[in-house]
Amino acid sequence: MKILDGKALANKKAILIKEELKKLSFTPKLVIVLVGDDFASLKYVGHKLKKAEALGINAELVHLPKSTTQDELIKQIQKLNNDKSVHGYIVQLPVPKHIDDKLIQEYVDPSKDVDGLSTMNAGRFFQSGYNYIVPGTPSGIVQILKDNDIPLKGKVVAMIGRSNIVGKPLSLALLNENATVIMCHSRTDFKILKQADIVISATGVPHLIKANMIKENATIIDVGINRDKNNKLTGDVDFEDVKDKAYAVTPVPGGVGPMTIICIFQNLLKLIKFQQNK
Ligand code: NAD
Repeated sequence: MKILDGKALANKKAILIKEELKKLSFTPKLVIVLVGDDFASLKYVGHKLKKAEALGINAELVHLPKSTTQDELIKQIQKLNNDKSVHGYIVQLPVPKHIDDKLIQEYVDPSKDVDGLSTMNAGRFFQSGYNYIVPGTPSGIVQILKDNDIPLKGKVVAMIGRSNIVGKPLSLALLNENATVIMCHSRTDFKILKQADIVISATGVPHLIKANMIKENATIIDVGINRDKNNKLTGDVDFEDVKDKAYAVTPVPGGVGPMTIICIFQNLLKLIKFQQNK
């Protein structure tokens, strides 16, 4: 079985990003807005800040208390929209439950929307494909598949999970690659997975995907970042179980995660080009 090494690919992409950054006459500024102290979010934000520093990007954290109101967060977003020194920003998800995350996306300036989740950029992606900003995880997964010469055209892909950050935009990205996409979720009969050349799981359920569910030689993309009962980092896929049946699998950690992070910086560069061509 082949390991789809997202970490190695992210390192290759980082070299290209550094080359692009050298061509700029300024150091780009990225801001991450974090509301509250969600343990996983603090970790992801830490990874993003560290990667920004390694690339030579000026990254700043705006850490707001959990009690921040929706109006206060919107004001913070508007401040970033108006701040000419900021090239891109992220509102780290999830936000606390008293804040409507869909409403927040209405306020994110599409020209600074590194995550590609603003209402405008999500709509543009829906209508026009890759010309605008594609969310990090979907973009990273398509890059992993392409880099490993795993064909998508005409292939059957089972996309498990229908979130706005992974399942929905990824199914759209796969359609753009001419794959036949089966959208699966918590009400889906998993018998359908046997038809899939590629199974992508983004559910948050540890060890959900077993060898007996998949077709021989299927490619498995494991998006899940979970803790098992021993607090060990694990994906949605039972790696040990599928490893003798699958053609290729992304590991957790070291698969989708590093590419999700690198795509933030690819998107930042894309936004800077749009800003310069305005
Ligand atoms: P979410 O938590 O918003 O939704 C989960 C989805 O999975 C839902 O659509 C639900 O219908 C489906 N689902 C839940 N249980 C299921 C089951 N038993 N069978 C079939 N479908 C089921 O999804 P999300 O925000 O996309 O996150 C999913 C997982 O991916 C989490 O573990 C998250 O931490 C991880 N994640 C990883 C990255 C990365 O870079 N690797 C990025 C984003 C999310």
